[in-house]
Amino acid sequence: MTEPALAVEGLRKAFGGLTATDDVSLDLRAGEIHALIGPNGAGKSTLIGQIAGWIAPDAGRVRLAGRDVTGLGVAERARLGLGRSFQVSSLAAPLSARRNVMLAAQAREGSSFRFWRQVRRDRALVAAAEAALARVGLAGRGNVPTAELSHGERRLVEVACALALGPKALLLDEPMAGLGAEGSGALADLLETLKAEAPILLVEHDMDAVFRLADRVSVLVAGRVIASGPVAEIRADPEVRRAYLGE
Ligand code: ADP
Ligand code: MG
Repeated sequence: MTEPALAVEGLRKAFGGLTATDDVSLDLRAGEIHALIGPNGAGKSTLIGQIAGWIAPDAGRVRLAGRDVTGLGVAERARLGLGRSFQVSSLAAPLSARRNVMLAAQAREGSSFRFWRQVRRDRALVAAAEAALARVGLAGRGNVPTAELSHGERRLVEVACALALGPKALLLDEPMAGLGAEGSGALADLLETLKAEAPILLVEHDMDAVFRLADRVSVLVAGRVIASGPVAEIRADPEVRRAYLGE
């Protein structure tokens, strides 16, 4: 079998006496959407933070395309192809959509550019940003200050930021939060086409979206994975229905 795009093994994180993630193992394989579901406070965002690199795990490993990245910082992981969007927006509101995506694309190359290359480099960044904006359906919106975009458009800009890195794997933490039916539908369509380019670990509350989009689902409750498998199996699992769907 080929190396998964992303693999986590035994991730654990305690905040004081509270164990937010407890020995979590899962992987993300080429071409799939792997949904991570669970009640509020289950540890989903903590897990995403540990994978992305801004939360240091107490134990466990993270591997990206077979490479152990556990000791690396956020920027290095991004450079290696780990794209992500956050539960809370990370866009710079006064800047244009294009400039936000350019800033993300810049992370890909690090800081080792030379001054004399700057013009060429800026052109390349603009082109990368425009391509990513077009990919999420925002061609022609690049000049608009982020603050003037709709909530749904801002979420799409965040996805464009992740895409600008040329990701090998995408981490999306509740990308549909606060979107209406139309916005969620458009984003779901987009994710469905994106997963072939980069598999997606998707934290999502909207069960309709999860059951429609996901290839596999893992269920996190109180920091532990209580079930993981193909979407149809998880949907029918009595423990999942009891613990999570409130039945
Ligand atoms: P989810 O995303 O599934 O709603 P979180 O990962 O945000 O859950 O939170 C898991 C648990 O860890 C919660 O009880 C939350 O209050 C706690 N927690 C998260 N981040 C911190 C932090 N920085 N300091 C202390 N407790 C935290
Ligand atoms: Mg969360």
